[in-house]
Amino acid sequence: MPPGGRGMGGPMGGQFLTEEEKKNQPKVTPELLKRVFSYLKPYTKQLILVLLCIIVSSFFTLLPSILTGKILDEGLLKKDLNALILYISLSLLVTLLASLIGVAETYINTWIAQHITFDMRNQMYSHLQKMSQRFFTTNNQGDIITRMTSDIDGVKSVITSTFSSILSNSITLVIALIAMFQKNWILALVGIIIVPVFTIPTRSAGKKRWSLTNESQQVNDEVNGILNETLSVSGQLLVKLFGKEKYEYARYENANRKMIALNIKESMAGRWFRVVLTTFTTVGPMLIYLVGGILMMKYDPDLTIGDISVLVSLLGRMYMPVNSLLNIQVEWIRSMALFKRIFDYFDIPVEIENAPDAVTPDKVTGDVVFEHVEFSYDESKKILKDINFTLKAGKSIAIVGPSGSGKSTIVNLIPRLYDVDSGCVTFDGIDVRKLDLKFLRDQVGVVSQETYLFNGTIRDNLLYAKPDATEEDMIAALKKANIWDFVEKQEKGMDTEVGNRGLKLSGGEKQRISIARIILKDPTIFIFDEATSALDSISEKKIQDAIDPIIKSKTSILIAHRLSTILAADEILVVKDGTIAERGSHRELLGKEGIYRELYETQFSKALIEEDGVSELEQYIWGTQPADEPMDEDQE
Ligand code: ADP
Repeated sequence: MPPGGRGMGGPMGGQFLTEEEKKNQPKVTPELLKRVFSYLKPYTKQLILVLLCIIVSSFFTLLPSILTGKILDEGLLKKDLNALILYISLSLLVTLLASLIGVAETYINTWIAQHITFDMRNQMYSHLQKMSQRFFTTNNQGDIITRMTSDIDGVKSVITSTFSSILSNSITLVIALIAMFQKNWILALVGIIIVPVFTIPTRSAGKKRWSLTNESQQVNDEVNGILNETLSVSGQLLVKLFGKEKYEYARYENANRKMIALNIKESMAGRWFRVVLTTFTTVGPMLIYLVGGILMMKYDPDLTIGDISVLVSLLGRMYMPVNSLLNIQVEWIRSMALFKRIFDYFDIPVEIENAPDAVTPDKVTGDVVFEHVEFSYDESKKILKDINFTLKAGKSIAIVGPSGSGKSTIVNLIPRLYDVDSGCVTFDGIDVRKLDLKFLRDQVGVVSQETYLFNGTIRDNLLYAKPDATEEDMIAALKKANIWDFVEKQEKGMDTEVGNRGLKLSGGEKQRISIARIILKDPTIFIFDEATSALDSISEKKIQDAIDPIIKSKTSILIAHRLSTILAADEILVVKDGTIAERGSHRELLGKEGIYRELYETQFSKALIEEDGVSELEQYIWGTQPADEPMDEDQE
C-alpha cells in the first residue's frame, strides 16, 4: 500500500467503464442503497470497530509527516539529540502501530465480508430452491451458478475494497487537510489548489491510454483476421485463383500501418503522462517552499522550516487518496450494478408455493382427477388443452402419444412442478394447489427418463428417499427393483460409488436403482416416464419385471413407449397435440384404426419383436386371447 492512500483494485478491475457497463448503469435509488446497507446492518458493531481502526491507522500513518516538523525544528535546528531520537523513534513506533492496526482492520473487514456473503449465499440458495421448474428450464445453469458464486464473491471485494477504500481515503484526506490548515491556512490552500492540477491530468492521461489500448486491440484483431483468412490453405488458393495478391497485400499493409501509428501514440501517451507526473510532483512541493519561504521571510516570522516541511510531506500523502476517490465512481457504479444483478435474482417471484391455508389430509386414498386442464409454458403456445381423466386409486393409466405431444407435461402437473392455467388437478378430491406442498410431493414418486443419481454410494442414494430405512428395507427394495443381484456382486455392495450422476453404472442399472429408491419412498402415486432410448433387451426385461408388480398393485401413471408396459395398464390415454385424442383398452384402441393403431404399427410392434415372450404377446394383441385375461398366470 502506498503511503497515505489505498489503491482501488476493486472487484472487477479496469479504471474506466466499458461501453456496455455505461449502458447498463443501474439507477442508484435510496431503496437500492437501503437494501445494500441492510446486509451490513447485522454487523454494525464490527463495522464501527473497522471505522475506528481506519481512523486511528490513518492518523498514525500521517503522524510521521507531522513529526517531520518536530524533527527539523526541535531536533536538527536546535541541535538537540535527545529530541531528535525521541521524534524519530516516535515516528517509527506509530508507523509500526498503524501497520498493526491495519492487520486488525483487514481481519475484521474480511470477517464481515465473509459473513455477509455467507448470509447472501444461503439466502440465494434457499430462494433458488423455491423456484419452479420453469425457472430452471428457462435459465442457463451457468448463469445461475455465476450468480451464486462470482457475483456474490464480487460483494466480498466491494466490502473489503471499494467500501473500505472510500472510508480510508476520505478519512486520510480529512485528517491531512485538518493538519495542514492547522499548521498554516495559506499553505494549505496552495496545497489544495495543486492537488487537482496534478490528479486531473493523471486521470485524463489514463483515459487516453485506455482508449488507445482498446483501439489497438481492435486493429490487432483486424490484422489477425487478415492473416488467418489469407494465409490458410484454402484462403491462399482463393487469393491465387482470383489473382488478389496485390489487393490482399494492400489490405494487410494498411492495417499494419494503422497498427504502428497507434503503437507509437500509445507509447507517447505514456511518456507525456510521465512528464506531467514528474513535473507536478515537483511543482507542488516547490510551490509550497516558495510561498512558505516568502511568508516566513516577509509576513509570518512564527512560521518555521519544520512547518513548511510538514506541509510538503502532507501534500505528498494527498495525491493517492484524491486519485483513488476520483476513480471511485467507476468502482461505485460496478458495485451497484453487481448488487442490482443479485437483487434482481432475489426478486424473481416464487411461482409455486404453499397456499396460506394449505391442508394436510389425515387419510390418503390416491385418486387423481384432471378437470378441463389447460396449460402453457409460455404465452406463445398452448401445450395442454382441455385434459380430462380420472385415475382411481389402485388403478394404472398409460399415456402414449407422439414425442412433444404433452405427456410429460401432464404428469408434471401432479406434483405441482407447474401449476395449471385453468381447470384443476385434484388429489383425493382436493385441488393440488390447496394441498401442503411437502405432503403432496411425498405422495408422488417419479422415475423419470433421465435417471438422476447423486454422486455418492448406492446406499446414499437410497437413503435420500427414506433416511430412516433399515438395511432390510433397502435390500428388499433392491430386490423388488431387480438390482439386488448386481449390488450383491459388487465388492463394496451397497457402498459402491455410483460416480457423478451415476455415470459409473449402466443405463439399466441406474434405472433400477432409481426404481428401488421409489419403492423405498413408497408414495401413493407412482409415475414412470419410460426411457425412449433403447436399452438392451435383458435390461428392459429386468426393468419391466420390476415395475410390472407396481403397476398392477399401485396407483400409477406410465408414460409408455414399450408395448409390454402399455399392456400392463388399466387404461390407455392417447395424447396428441395436447389433447386426449383417444382412450380405452389396447384392444378397443387397436380396433379404432386411429392414432393408437398408427403408433402401434410404427413404434410398438418393432419393440415387440425384440422382446421376450413374443408369441404370447402377439396372441394377446391380435385378439386370440380375451382382453381381460392376464397374459401369464403369475402376473396377477
Ligand atoms: P412429451 O412428453 O409428449 O414428449 P412434453 O410434455 O415434454 O412432451 O412437451 C410438450 C411440449 O411442450 C413440447 O412442444 C415441448 O417443446 C414443450 N415443452 C416441454 N417442456 C418445456 C419447457 N420447460 N418450456 C417450454 N416448453 C416446453
